Amino acid sequence: MENPIPPSFNQKLNGKIAIITGGASGIGEATAHLFAQHGAQVVIADIQEEKGRSVAESIGSTHCAFIKCDVTDEQQVQSLVQSTVGIHGRVDIMFSNAGIASHNEHAQDILGFNLDALDNLFAVNVRGSVACVKHAAKAMVEGGVKGKIICTASAAATMGVTRQIDYAMSKHAVLGLVRSASKGLGAYGIRVNCVSPAAVATPLLEKSMKMGVEELEKLFESFNCLKIGALRASHVADAVLFLASDDSQFITGHNLVVDGGFHPPV
Ligand code: NAD
Repeated sequence: MENPIPPSFNQKLNGKIAIITGGASGIGEATAHLFAQHGAQVVIADIQEEKGRSVAESIGSTHCAFIKCDVTDEQQVQSLVQSTVGIHGRVDIMFSNAGIASHNEHAQDILGFNLDALDNLFAVNVRGSVACVKHAAKAMVEGGVKGKIICTASAAATMGVTRQIDYAMSKHAVLGLVRSASKGLGAYGIRVNCVSPAAVATPLLEKSMKMGVEELEKLFESFNCLKIGALRASHVADAVLFLASDDSQFITGHNLVVDGGFHPPV
């Protein structure tokens, strides 16, 4: 189904070329829809081929395409960026969002820490983010594009936890990447920021917590100070749009927390 765009709509990304990794589901999917509504040409990059193609189709082929890409493989990320430049001429926005949760079978507390599971998780959340930031930035610098790079970190990026330590560590690393990359890329007019959502009922948490959306949202609502319901993927997408648009022209190296005043029981 096409996503009709009202003619009077205030489009914040008109004509911009955006790559969204992990765009087949959850926060990435919501952001792909929002970016397209705001006039961007969106390239969804994900390992879930069927789901990714179906999201791209639901947005419409004139606004969105799918490219299969495993972000753990630097060659695939490089080729994703090169294909996008080949088709659209440049990359204006990279939303590096693909990520996974801690392995289901391991608590990943300090005494029972499984280091192989950590390697697997870091390959996606950390190595994948570095590859996306690096190759998007190279394309932007080479093309003279004053681009915007946004990563998805997490509320766990700035707190210690008792379980799923590997996940929290990986998001601390994403924050370090964003802060560091923003220093080097500022000279080229490229802004690098991240969003840090608290818990959102996406497939990532449905799988890792083995709970349905309604049950998860009820639980997450109780963590927030802001009593207006549960945090949803669309709220996070709104924050990503802000960082991707000219509304945030003087903001770089920033961690935009989207958490409704989160107080987790860790
Ligand atoms: P999700 O599972 O709905 O979406 C994640 C997407 O990433 C999936 O489509 C998946 O196929 C893709 N992906 C996984 N590994 C990949 C790889 N190697 N290469 C390419 N794509 C890959 O989950 P989500 O909640 O939307 O997660 C998006 C991001 O948000 C993740 O980085 C996650 O850590 C972060 N985050 C989520 C929450 C939450 O509560 N849901 C909170 C904070 C941060």
